[in-house]
Amino acid sequence: MNVLEGDILEMKKPHPCGDKRFKVHRIGIDFRLECMGCGRIVLAPRVKIEKNIKKIIRDSEEH
Ligand SMILES: [Zn+2]
Repeated sequence: MNVLEGDILEMKKPHPCGDKRFKVHRIGIDFRLECMGCGRIVLAPRVKIEKNIKKIIRDSEEH
């Protein structure tokens, strides 16, 4: 799964606020994501996030 900074990730499990979309701020051993619903910053290990991705939404693919 090739995640880039700036991507929007649609997750299988939603954030407690109910939104499933997270924006990728920083990539490393841990990913820093921002919830699109409430704006909270989430830090989680790459492996854990990759398992939870349903799809990647990239600007060039939006219609
Ligand atoms: Zn949220």
